[in-house]
Amino acid sequence: MSVTQPVGNKAEITEAEFEGLKIKALQKVNDFTDYLKIITDLNSDREKIKTAIGLATALFVDENARIEVSNVNTGLKNKYKVKEYFVGLGTPFFDQVGYVFLATTEEGLVELEQRRAAQVELGVPVERVDPAELPGVRADDVLGAVVCRSDGVADPVAVTRELVRRAVEGGVDVREHTPAETVDAETVVIACGAYSPPLAAHFGVELPVRPLTRQLLETTPIPALLERLPMVVESETGFHFRRRGDRLVLAMADADPRWGDLAEVDEAVFPDRLARLEHRYPPAAGARVARAWTGPYDMTPDAHPLIGHVEDGVYAVCGFSGHGFMQAPAVGDAVAAELLGEEPPLDLDPYRPQRFASGAIFPETLVL
Ligand SMILES: Cc1cc2nc3c(=O)[nH]c(=O)nc-3n(C[C@H](O)[C@H](O)[C@H](O)COP(=O)(O)OP(=O)(O)OC[C@H]3O[C@@H](n4cnc5c(N)ncnc54)[C@H](O)[C@@H]3O)c2cc1C
Repeated sequence: MSVTQPVGNKAEITEAEFEGLKIKALQKVNDFTDYLKIITDLNSDREKIKTAIGLATALFVDENARIEVSNVNTGLKNKYKVKEYFVGLGTPFFDQVGYVFLATTEEGLVELEQRRAAQVELGVPVERVDPAELPGVRADDVLGAVVCRSDGVADPVAVTRELVRRAVEGGVDVREHTPAETVDAETVVIACGAYSPPLAAHFGVELPVRPLTRQLLETTPIPALLERLPMVVESETGFHFRRRGDRLVLAMADADPRWGDLAEVDEAVFPDRLARLEHRYPPAAGARVARAWTGPYDMTPDAHPLIGHVEDGVYAVCGFSGHGFMQAPAVGDAVAAELLGEEPPLDLDPYRPQRFASGAIFPETLVL
């Protein structure tokens, strides 16, 4: 993670330019059959994919998209346990309340069950749960549900501050409010989230990353909120909510993606989100939106990150496409190892920034 504060620059790439980049990447594969073969190889080589996931970052396959899920188990052949890392930080940084996914349609249930099977095969403790067991959660329209009890929610700002504190304590020279462009370094690591393309451009590199505006809504206080309320996700709609103190934080993807890094909250969706909340969680009836804010996802063409050298002395670690916080411990560890010339504890090859040029597009399909 970068430890500096915002410097106000924005990614300038337009949607047309972004599409152009993708097309350019695909055009480099001369033969469409080659392209299909790459995709087929990726799909058929499940073991390779699993190793790629390595730690569970859910970086690579949709079945494993429940990001936090995959690290806590010992079934994977990885050496790094992301969730253990968060658990090790303890309260108030990480709260292991669990994630619940609900399916309300037959198709949704089939998909949920396929994901669960893949996760269990990977050793992730995802179980079926009777939705009626979830106090307060409306279950009469739910056909099936799964829970991973070792999942949880974190306070990203507090965790970042704590990591900075530990880094300084460990002797790291942390310079805040310092644009990376002004720092002399043998190797520059571009880890600026949605602001990575402008920094890359400074080094003459074009990165296929573009900002997508997402927003979070926090409700007014809700009486008697269950202390251990899990994060609840409607599988088909992606609508989800989780407890923060005596309130709930709600989110859902926009029907029309808001490309760009837009500061304005779209208040037009508030009534819809509150209605969804009241439907799924009747104890929240009457709650209002107390505050809301936006932030940019740093999207890549396949919604997986870019990790690796993009130029001599320039290394990219960005494009986490909305799930980078939970991947950070594993990725940070692997990147540090690679930069030090050691063997990374997970295979970073599937995430190389050059992958689009060889047609390796394997899109993440479940980005919340
Ligand atoms: C609304 C929302 C909800 C999200 N929910 C989740 C979630 O539930 N789970 C999850 O895992 N992820 C979530 N994410 C995604 C997650 O926040 C990101 O993937 C993660 O923060 C990426 O970390 P990063 O360190 O790569 O970049 P960032 O956290 O974006 O940090 C980049 C830093 O670089 C700095 N910077 C920019 N330009 C420069 C420069 N030129 N020089 C120096 N510094 C610079 C910025 O100021 C910033 O501090 C969410 C994102 C949003 C917007």
